[in-house]
Amino acid sequence: MSNSLIETLVRPEIRALNAYHVPPATGMVKLDAMENPYAWGAELKTAWLARLQEVDVNRYPDPQGTVVKQGLRAAMDIAPEFDLLLGNGSDEIIQIIIMALARSGAVVLAAEPAFVMYKMIALFAGVKYVGVPLRAEDFSLDGPAMLAAIAAEKPAVVFLAEPNNPTGNKYDRKVVEAIIAATPGLVVMDEAYLPFTDGDSLDLLRHDNVVVMRTVSKLGLAGLRLGLLIGAPAWLHEFDKLRLPYNISVLTQASAAFALEHYGYFLEQAGRIRADRAGLMQALAALPGWTVFPSEANFILTRLPAGQARLVFEALKQEGVLIKCLDGAHPLLQDCLRITVGAPEENARLLAALRDILNLDL
Ligand SMILES: *Cc1c(COP(=O)(O)O)cnc(C)c1O
Repeated sequence: MSNSLIETLVRPEIRALNAYHVPPATGMVKLDAMENPYAWGAELKTAWLARLQEVDVNRYPDPQGTVVKQGLRAAMDIAPEFDLLLGNGSDEIIQIIIMALARSGAVVLAAEPAFVMYKMIALFAGVKYVGVPLRAEDFSLDGPAMLAAIAAEKPAVVFLAEPNNPTGNKYDRKVVEAIIAATPGLVVMDEAYLPFTDGDSLDLLRHDNVVVMRTVSKLGLAGLRLGLLIGAPAWLHEFDKLRLPYNISVLTQASAAFALEHYGYFLEQAGRIRADRAGLMQALAALPGWTVFPSEANFILTRLPAGQARLVFEALKQEGVLIKCLDGAHPLLQDCLRITVGAPEENARLLAALRDILNLDL
């Protein structure tokens, strides 16, 4: 294999990247990836497997995902005037949107720290990315800075996650509306963490330049890879042209259709996670010097005393607990850790390990 051929042919910005790193987690308490910790009950599993027996894997899937879309519409109460577009995870929807808008000189803009895929996919598509820092104190939107950046960069698309990852907070509705009004491009409201908060962004669809993106991943179906975009038919008609045919497999379609018939089961699990979040936040806030930021999601962002985050992260890993170390990921995330809310026994193991590591007798 000739390295010089690769250097000549592969774009330098791609060669400079590190592949998306997913740390090994076999046998660990896995609190790093915002997964739902609960397995399906035996009865549900049996009914699901029976359903899968009817799937014709020799056939291509329904290209439109008709049954899944009906299930999503019913479960999420989506008004008939909006269309749905399905993606292989909402990651694929981000990719479709950015590819569609990647005219020469186009800009992707997001408030930072944000979900990393906005920036990564902009880079993959060869589109300029601009990150506007959130306010350092509380990770709220910096309205004047956002409006100034929008005026200067004229973004083709602005991504706003509501609640935001990795900060966990929601944004001031007035500032969001001002951003929508000022943006010459499309505003994507990313509601990946909707199951863990109240209210939603569907009413913002009254603006011509807004679409709403969701996923079933954080609700408890991360393994299926299914995201959805909700918006005006005119937008989705264009985006649908970039969607690869058959992007949602027969197994995902059958499983999602089945799971959506039991939507309440997953909402109940999300409700438990949400209730357990309060206790975990309180316990973490009691650790010496730890700041816990308010969360409307299924994870908690904390800031540790200077220099401790990486040490605590590594020590937890030694104890078999995997969380996410964000120190170094963004200037505003210095000394920060992100912890997914797990099942009660997992949260207890985390706290016991932390007390051990920090030498506390509690
Ligand atoms: C997890 C996450 C996604 C991606 O979800 P998938 O549907 O699993 O691809 C999108 N946006 C945000 C903010 C997320 O945290």
